[in-house]
Amino acid sequence: MKKVLLVRYGEIALKGQNRKYFEDMLKNNIAARLKKYADVRIKKGQARIEIHFEESDMDELIDCIKDVFGIAYISKALIVPSVMQDICAGAAALYEAGKRFKIESRRGDKSFALTSPEISAHVGGYVLKNNPGAEVDVRAPQQVIEIEVRDTTYIYAQSVKGRAGLPTATGGRGVLLLSGGIDSPVAGYMMASRGMSLSAVYFHSSPYTSVEAQQKVENLAKRLESFAPGLALHVVPFTALQECMIEHTDTRYLTILMRRYMMRIAEKIAFQLRAGALITGESLGQVASQTVESIRATNAVCTLPVLRPLIGMDKLQIIEIAKDIGTFETSILPYEDCCALFSPKHPQTKPKMENVEAQEAKMADAAEGLMQKAIEESQIIRF
Ligand code: ATP
Ligand code: MG
Repeated sequence: MKKVLLVRYGEIALKGQNRKYFEDMLKNNIAARLKKYADVRIKKGQARIEIHFEESDMDELIDCIKDVFGIAYISKALIVPSVMQDICAGAAALYEAGKRFKIESRRGDKSFALTSPEISAHVGGYVLKNNPGAEVDVRAPQQVIEIEVRDTTYIYAQSVKGRAGLPTATGGRGVLLLSGGIDSPVAGYMMASRGMSLSAVYFHSSPYTSVEAQQKVENLAKRLESFAPGLALHVVPFTALQECMIEHTDTRYLTILMRRYMMRIAEKIAFQLRAGALITGESLGQVASQTVESIRATNAVCTLPVLRPLIGMDKLQIIEIAKDIGTFETSILPYEDCCALFSPKHPQTKPKMENVEAQEAKMADAAEGLMQKAIEESQIIRF
């Protein structure tokens, strides 16, 4: 009888041909989180990953890996030989005295002599016999002991829910346009949960925006890095381009032009990083500038796909995720981001493409050099 942590996965289990690839990536990502524990060994089990250890604390290990994408559940388990006597002893060892319990059994190995209900009945009887006063309750049990019979048998009664999704680094790289708001960190989290590696880009408008505003974005990026290992933040000075816009164009187009230049610069950075997509926190209709017309006008300046995982989500739903991932409290700190500062009073919410292009033409010559300069002068922060 051996104590292990059992990692079960959700969506990866549905993969066909390339399931092994996803399993290996998940195993590597878990190993990376646990490399400081010399006694830990990670083994691929049967549609499971087993974490073996000698003296490490189980809860501490769980804490280290609970945010790794691809994990549906982490269970404190016993591994025993697939023999009824051992299975009974294992279940009895996990039973918590005094609780009304239920045994749930599954057979991965259909050649096993007993059916799942027979296993449950047999093991339940054993626990009852050895614990006078114990009671079975299949409707509202206080403890559920799960048994999975395979080549060896896993028995567990305590599981922690993971974040599911797909393992990091299986989904290419995306460049996240990260502002200090509530939405873009959530957008980054959602793409990271699909296995995307992330780089983040923040456009800052110093001295119009404060040091605190940038610090806030750095803190958000750092928090995101725990979900997207290796995430670096590119801080791009955007003031000169904004001043150029204000000087040359109709202020009603400021928001859309800023957005178009942000996308252009983000795409250039994405090409340097060999990223395959841009990611924004836009949600349709959330603010006046997030209309289909505006989205069309911003998409038009780049060739990379622009992923907008929040596009169909309600603000309250987004806030719920922000709270869950620990970015909300930082996002609501009251420091202006550049867009709030340079927002026109009456923005064009449904900009016509030809008007946008006509406005942009007035600044295009100057902008080319300014974009290049902004990229050259950007600062890269790693965590
Ligand atoms: P957020 O809550 O993410 O700031 P928002 O609702 O304030 O979003 P907008 O200000 O319209 O929305 O910005 C839309 C998207 O553009 C953001 O979600 C973000 O991806 C990107 N963005 C806006 N401002 C910046 C910035 N200063 N630096 C980087 N990206 C930005
Ligand atoms: Mg914002």
